[in-house]
Amino acid sequence: MTIRHHPSDETLLRYAAGRLAPAPGRVVATHLHGCPACRERVRVFEAVGGAVLDGMSPVPVVPHALARALAAIDAGPAGRATSLEGSSTPAHGAARTAPPLLPDGIVLPAPLRDCAMGPWRWAGFGVRASALTLPEDPKASLLLLRVAPGRRLPEHGHSGLEFTQILSGSFSDAFGRYQPGDLTEMGAEVEHQPVVDPDGPCICLTALEGGVLFTGSIGRLIQPFLRL
Ligand SMILES: [Zn+2]
Repeated sequence: MTIRHHPSDETLLRYAAGRLAPAPGRVVATHLHGCPACRERVRVFEAVGGAVLDGMSPVPVVPHALARALAAIDAGPAGRATSLEGSSTPAHGAARTAPPLLPDGIVLPAPLRDCAMGPWRWAGFGVRASALTLPEDPKASLLLLRVAPGRRLPEHGHSGLEFTQILSGSFSDAFGRYQPGDLTEMGAEVEHQPVVDPDGPCICLTALEGGVLFTGSIGRLIQPFLRL
């Protein structure tokens, strides 16, 4: 599996410092589970980036923090002693039972196996959705979507970042084509019209940071799945 789309360094740095909200954090954890390159970056960020962030406040990830963390990566394999598996894969205890299956026989990724999966509900227009309940934040909105071949993903507007991890199938938008293992991160200023490729359904995991307002006919059908 070749992964072409990764979380931004800002996102990985925030993840490493424990500053991502629970639902986006799970999306990133699911990406990390299948992406050795991002796991390596997080290891370094955990070692140095978090410390840098702790010294800053209150605002954003500043260029200095990122530059220092990236320089540490370039300098070599520092910080590898940090155990990513232990800190970001909360599902080890559930490994003895058969993992839950998603539609089409897809296995629920390991970083999500301590979440309760809600019923798959038909949302119309080729979309089915299931809400995942996070033990650490039962009110968080983390959604699984299954979109039929050739269909558009729901239109929506939001005030923060949208994180989507592709679990099976693929979709395309003006920025590229996204396949299993890829994570897309879209800012509020970005308008895109993802369309599922015609050769099969697409199952993805999606979370939003900040407010969300689904719009359009499909979006209104999805809205009830969110805990807002
Ligand atoms: Zn990656």
